[in-house]
Parts: sequence; structure tokens; C-alpha cells
Amino acid sequence: MSAVIDFLRARRKQSLAELIEYLKMPSISTLGIGVEETAAHLAALMASAGIEAQILPTEGISLVYGEVKGPPDVPTLLIYGHYDVQPADISEGWSSEPFEPQVRDGRLYARGSGDNKGQHFAQIKAVEAYYRTNTKMPVNLKFLIEGEEEMGSPNLRKFIQANKELLKADIACSSDGSLHPSGRPTLSLGCRGLLYIELISYGVGKDLHSGSYGGSVPNPFWRLMEAVQCLRDGEGRVRVPGFYESVLPVGDADQSALQGIPDPAAKLRAVIGEGADGIPDIPAFYTKTLTQPNLNICGFQGGYSNDGMKTVLPGSASAKLDFRLVVDQDPDKLFDDVCSFLKAEGFDDIEVRKMATFDASKTPADNPYVQMVIKAVGGYGVEPVIYPNFGGSVPDSMFTRDLGIPSVWFPLANADSNAHAPDENIDVEIFHRGCEVAAALMGGLA
Ligand SMILES: [Zn+2]
Repeated sequence: MSAVIDFLRARRKQSLAELIEYLKMPSISTLGIGVEETAAHLAALMASAGIEAQILPTEGISLVYGEVKGPPDVPTLLIYGHYDVQPADISEGWSSEPFEPQVRDGRLYARGSGDNKGQHFAQIKAVEAYYRTNTKMPVNLKFLIEGEEEMGSPNLRKFIQANKELLKADIACSSDGSLHPSGRPTLSLGCRGLLYIELISYGVGKDLHSGSYGGSVPNPFWRLMEAVQCLRDGEGRVRVPGFYESVLPVGDADQSALQGIPDPAAKLRAVIGEGADGIPDIPAFYTKTLTQPNLNICGFQGGYSNDGMKTVLPGSASAKLDFRLVVDQDPDKLFDDVCSFLKAEGFDDIEVRKMATFDASKTPADNPYVQMVIKAVGGYGVEPVIYPNFGGSVPDSMFTRDLGIPSVWFPLANADSNAHAPDENIDVEIFHRGCEVAAALMGGLA
């Protein structure tokens, strides 16, 4: 093991340079930019780390699959990640070009640095260290790096269901998300589910002069806003019938995990900024974001909302909303319920589109493999913070439900990595440290 760590430390400069090359490749799945080239680059990176890598087709963008065979009788670890990234443009407030990585003040700034290239790249480097130092692989490894995560993984489940034998493993351990704001490692044992919808209110179909037509021609935004408002009551509770039926009270194990999350109020404020004053205190913050469902408005579209003004009567208006769900809330059933509810409330004129769904998922903390991971991560440095689940939505149920294996999320990016935002970054020291902890985790499963 020490040879592995020594190797990683000796090769820090080179690893960083390779990560920079990887980050230069835009791989924006939602716009179809650069995904094939990036998949090929990733497969080559994996191959040079001793991973048998291949690009496998899905019904959408191909994914990269890799395998390392350990000695017989060792457990099999499945690692999930995604090589696609969110769109980014310097005009959105970046300090440097999002696809021209730059190191400033110990941070590597680039789209995908934290979410998620920097993270699965650290795991690949961990494997490479075992390979190049001829250290016996402590586990069998299977890598599943998809190219459609930022689109909501529309084809991943089908791929997993069709390849259960290929993906057979004892535990899934994936790095996405971020460390605790205090810098301590975190282990998450599940995630909230997601239903992402778009509500569309149709007007006359083209924008009109608000002076010449306003008052006579109905404005679709008023209708849209009534429909959005109708989904929630004055206390912020979702009004769709049955929404809270399967939301169970927080159990003892989760409650104690929530209690064990250190109070990082100051750090949390540093991440959120000045607006943090309105957020609930810890642990209410975690109880709400980790164990409760929520309805969020992502944005409105239509008419004019750029700088300055334009007196326009929009031809149509739409709103994008996401429901975050807890385990046992079925996103597809919820979608049907939302449609029927809006109809029953008189909004037959509003079109409801389903854009993405994710099932919520949970792994019990007392699973023996989970305990091994907790021990390995803690044994390598700092005791990890255990989250009963993620607030965000990841394809975790594909492991827990479809493959029937425990699944742990083990992020390797800093809490202020600005995922999905301008100036996305990964702390360089945290990246290097991530390579080491990833190697230790593999060792701990032996
Ligand atoms: Zn993302």
C-alpha cells in the first residue's frame, strides 16, 4: 500500500497535467458537443492506467466501461461516474475560459473539474498506482462512466438492466458531489429522487406589442403562474393529493447520522454567501435537504427578461420545476398525479411535460461492505461524515434496486467547487488527496 501512495505522491505533477488535458475536452451532452472524442480520450486514459477499457453503445451517448481483474475471492467494486459536463460559457461570469483549465491559488478552474471528471479521474489514478507499482489489486474493479448524467441519465437504466451479469459486483462506490464544508470526507448512503417537469401555457403563439394588444389578448404568464402557485400551499407544502403518503418519519439510524453531522454553520455560510441568513439552522438544514421532499422552481421562460426593457405580450410561457423526492415516492406516479391534480383544479389548458425522473434510493448503514468502506476511509485520515443520503439525485437506485447491491457515494471534490456554476473548480490538494483515499478505499475492501 505504501508503494501505491508513494507512487501517487511522486506523480502529482503529471496527474494534474493529465487532468488538465482531460478537462480541455468539452463534453456537453445536452448540446451534443464533444462527447465521442471525450469518451475515446477517457478510454485511452483508463487503458494506460491498466484498466481494460471499452466504449459501449447505449441508446443515446456511449459510455465507457472498464475492468480490472483482481485475484480470486476478492470482492468486486463497481465505480460509477460521468464524463459529460454542464454547458458553460465565459459570458456567464467565469474568470477564465471554462474549457481552458487554469490553476489559480491552489485551485484548478474548468468545467467538469469537480463534476465529475476530476473525481473519477482520481479513482483511475488510484488504480494506475496499483498497476504501475505491481501491487496486488485488492479488489476486482468495474468502471461505468456514462456520458448522459447531465441530461438525467435517460439510457443508463436500460443499459444496466441489459448488462446485469457484466456489472455484477458486491458494492458500488462512486465519487460525485462534494466533501463536507469542513473538508472532512463524506459517505452518502442514498439520494433523493427527482421529477423534473415543464409547465407550458400557450397564448396566441407569437409575441405581440403589449400596448396594442394587452388587455384584450390574454397573457399566458398569468395562467402559468396560477398553475405553478396552485401546486403549493401557503406553508410550502405540496398540494398534490397523496404526495406525503409514503414519506416515512426519519428512522433512528438516520437520526443519529444526522446528529453526527458536524455543525458547519460558518462554512455553510461561506459556500452559500450572504443569502445564507434565511436558511434554517443546522441540523434542520440537513433534515430538510436530506430527508424531506421539496418542490423547486428552476425558472420561467417566455417574453422578455434580458437587460433593459421590452413591452411585450408573450406568445407562450413556460416554467421548469423539480420535485426532490424521498425513498418510496415514485416519480412516474407523481407525474400522473400532478397532471390529474392540475386538471382537477381547472388547468386543462396547461401542458405538463415530464423531462426527467430519478428514483430515490437508500443503503442501510449496517451493511458489512459499507462498514468496511467507513473503516477504510476513516483509517486513512479523518473520520468521514455519514449522510443517510444525498440531497441531490443520482442514479443510485440502479445499483440498489436493479443490481441489488449496496451503494456508497464518496465525493472527492471540495464543497465550494461551484458545480453547475461559473468558476467550477477542484482544490488541487483535495484532488491529490482524493487519489490516495480512493486507493486506500480499494485496499480496505480486501
Ligand atoms: Zn452535474
